[in-house]
Amino acid sequence: MIYLDYAATTPVDKRVLNAMIPYFRESYGNPSSIHRYGQKAESALDDAREKVADVLHCRPEEIIFTSCGSESDNLALRGSAFEKRKNFGKKWILTANNEHHAVSKTATQLEKEYGFLLKWLDLDEHGAVTSDSLARAVCNDAALVSVMYANNEIGTINPITELAVTAHSSNIPFHTDAVQAAAYLDVNVELLGVDLMSLGGHKFYGPKGVGVLYVRKGVGLMPHLTGGGQEFGLRAGTQNIPYIVGFAEALRLAAEEREERTAHVKPFRDHIIGRVLEDIPDSKLTGHPENRLPNHASFVFKNVDGNLLIQMLDSAGFACSSGSACKTGNPEPSEVISSLGYSRDWALGSLRITLGVDSIPEHVDLFLKILPGLVQKARGF
Ligand SMILES: *Cc1c(COP(=O)(O)O)cnc(C)c1O
Repeated sequence: MIYLDYAATTPVDKRVLNAMIPYFRESYGNPSSIHRYGQKAESALDDAREKVADVLHCRPEEIIFTSCGSESDNLALRGSAFEKRKNFGKKWILTANNEHHAVSKTATQLEKEYGFLLKWLDLDEHGAVTSDSLARAVCNDAALVSVMYANNEIGTINPITELAVTAHSSNIPFHTDAVQAAAYLDVNVELLGVDLMSLGGHKFYGPKGVGVLYVRKGVGLMPHLTGGGQEFGLRAGTQNIPYIVGFAEALRLAAEEREERTAHVKPFRDHIIGRVLEDIPDSKLTGHPENRLPNHASFVFKNVDGNLLIQMLDSAGFACSSGSACKTGNPEPSEVISSLGYSRDWALGSLRITLGVDSIPEHVDLFLKILPGLVQKARGF
């Protein structure tokens, strides 16, 4: 089996696993305890927080550990929305309908169930939010702008620095979901100028079930998980020390090895994009042709059932993913693919190939050899 789905998740790096293991059975203290077991856990927590802060170029107190990327997105949106409405009467949330569901469904729920107002930002042909699009949408009573750093389904990278400037010129805090981006792009919050940023460990060779929300000093959030005073009062619950240690080590390695990891995957990506568009009739690249994640190739094929193609690829020994969810036998294209404006006969045939540290030229060659025939076969159904 050949794994070509690193955007869905990544295996835990051995070095990360080794860093985590002592915190399950030897140093298992609760970081809130006063005794030495607690002190040891607290010092591991402090070290992890500093390591993450080093990569993000921020202060340790601005790092909030959460249970996953989705929770970080939820805390950013709910926390900002409720705080800004309570203290300033602000009700608008500005985001895009091609965001990860952790953002878009949270925004929709805030609108439908909690009385907030939601504005979907216009997207360009590659699924990006431009600063013009944001400038047209800003208003005085906006609680938050949330735009993802890089799109998980189509790989497009958004101009985060410009967007943050545009939001700030109207005094609106800016959140970015960098969960998919952090494996390959610089997550320096000073350069990006963001107020809130979500990260998730398992997209960059860390463990699943642990995330971070960066919260710039002075940015107010209403906690969405109440209880003990952990994480500066923003996220109650005893911290998951082994996973937090793993997260920090994985992020440190991602930053340290960013250039070589990029240099490893990018030629594969470019080779796949070139060959697929050339060898397969009625195929199109989705997302931006250049300004995209270096490990990410995504396509639509006309008159192909994307889910069937994924199953055929799986039978042939390749793990890939598509942008459509099969809802009780009636396939619907994902919001991300739909938002690019493809007609249904194109939008249902989406395929995403994402590369990673264990990808080798033979994997790519085998994949490119088998794909055209499978697409043709899927078209026959
Ligand atoms: C994977 C992903 C998430 C969700 O992260 P989890 O840690 O799996 O909850 C959110 N946003 C983006 C862009 C992602 O790729």
